Amino acid sequence: MASRSDFIYPNTGVPHRETKVESAPHPDVQNSRVKIKNAVITGHENLTDDTFLLTVKLDNGEVFNSHAGQYGTLKVDALDKPRAFSFAKAPTSEKKGEYSFFIKQVPGGKFSEYLEENRTGTKIVLSGPMGQFKIDESDEDMVCIAGGSGLSAINAIVESAAHEKVKRNCYFFYGARAQKDLYLVDEITAIEKKWAKGYTFKFIPVLSEEPEDSDWEGGRGFVTDFFKENYLKTGVVKAESCKAFFCGPPPMINAGAKVLEEAGVSEESMFFDKFEDARSPAPVIDNSKCVLCDECLLVKPTADCIVETAKLSDIKDNGRFSNIKRVDPAFTSGLYYNTLYINEDKCIRCYACVHACPHKAISPNHDLEPKTLRNIVEI
Ligand SMILES: Cc1cc2nc3c(=O)[nH]c(=O)nc-3n(C[C@H](O)[C@H](O)[C@H](O)COP(=O)(O)OP(=O)(O)OC[C@H]3O[C@@H](n4cnc5c(N)ncnc54)[C@H](O)[C@@H]3O)c2cc1C
Ligand code: SF4
Ligand code: SF4
Repeated sequence: MASRSDFIYPNTGVPHRETKVESAPHPDVQNSRVKIKNAVITGHENLTDDTFLLTVKLDNGEVFNSHAGQYGTLKVDALDKPRAFSFAKAPTSEKKGEYSFFIKQVPGGKFSEYLEENRTGTKIVLSGPMGQFKIDESDEDMVCIAGGSGLSAINAIVESAAHEKVKRNCYFFYGARAQKDLYLVDEITAIEKKWAKGYTFKFIPVLSEEPEDSDWEGGRGFVTDFFKENYLKTGVVKAESCKAFFCGPPPMINAGAKVLEEAGVSEESMFFDKFEDARSPAPVIDNSKCVLCDECLLVKPTADCIVETAKLSDIKDNGRFSNIKRVDPAFTSGLYYNTLYINEDKCIRCYACVHACPHKAISPNHDLEPKTLRNIVEI
């Protein structure tokens, strides 16, 4: 695994960065696991009032080697930073080099606003594949719970599982407000016919705000409550032998995880893909815990979200720094003592760095004030 933290700082046990820059990668080792590709928007189709299907094709016949459940980032020239969107179909269901996304319009969102117009034919940059969300390798029942455009990653996972003829039962719950918010119901229901013989696949839409007197005969209420009452309590799914896959808005996932935890589903049996955005807190790096292993840099989706800093000054009202002097390794004398900083203006809240950090040095719950090696090491 690529790493530049080969040297140990004397007496501290804290590795620091290699100084022979000609043999070291640039600090923006972003992309060593992520490819950045030029692409074009090939389709834009309304799925509901506020959600649409965007298709994007890579230039020059290129393809990503992705697995179902991963995401990519989309960047257009008109906006300053990319946005994260899950691949909405299994790789085997896509045309070669083309990728589908279910995109929900976010009130006040700039990319959402940009895409209000049909942008077919527009150049776009697609980076990926990213993320660890995927089907696990057990044979336990799958409980998939999606909300809103969170249908995307779960749809990709179940399409892929059907293609692979995975031998396990799957209960796919989709939480929406009303019938008008449902989409792809026929396509997902039809996965039942492709599912491994002798095993169950069931798609179960649940509506929370459907008028009482409507013709809706399916599930009602909050999707996780419906699952608990009708599948867990009745023993159709057993808490001790299921795996839960959540995808969608963070409040739905948090509520759902609580319900499942109370029902006895262990934390290790729950997998999430939370659709965070700029309203969520950006993570903070506690450099006193950081060992400069570069894992976060290897997964970061944008060039400037995590920067190596020589100097931080001009604290903004929110406790963040506005004057960030970046380290250029070609011109440093070797010692880094302030190290890494997350620039919240550039962070797209994917939390890839949080999951990648082996030392729990990155968290949205850390103090905003960065702790530096200078605080703990006599330089
Ligand atoms: C891993 C991952 C996968 C995702 N997959 C999908 C998917 O498949 N489909 C999907 O629809 N979404 C998905 N999302 C969510 C998606 O990335 C966001 O909805 C999208 O980035 C919003 O972009 P935008 O430009 O429309 O909104 P933005 O302009 O980025 O704004 C988002 C919201 O934050 C507010 N805001 C902006 N700046 C600030 C600020 N400084 N302080 C406070 N609030 C602010 C805006 O008013 C708006 O409400 C995913 C997110 C992640 C992290
Ligand atoms: S969460 Fe971490 S990896 Fe993701 S954009 Fe923000 S700083 Fe970069
Ligand atoms: S913050 Fe974590 S992942 Fe990033 S370099 Fe430091 S220890 Fe490694």
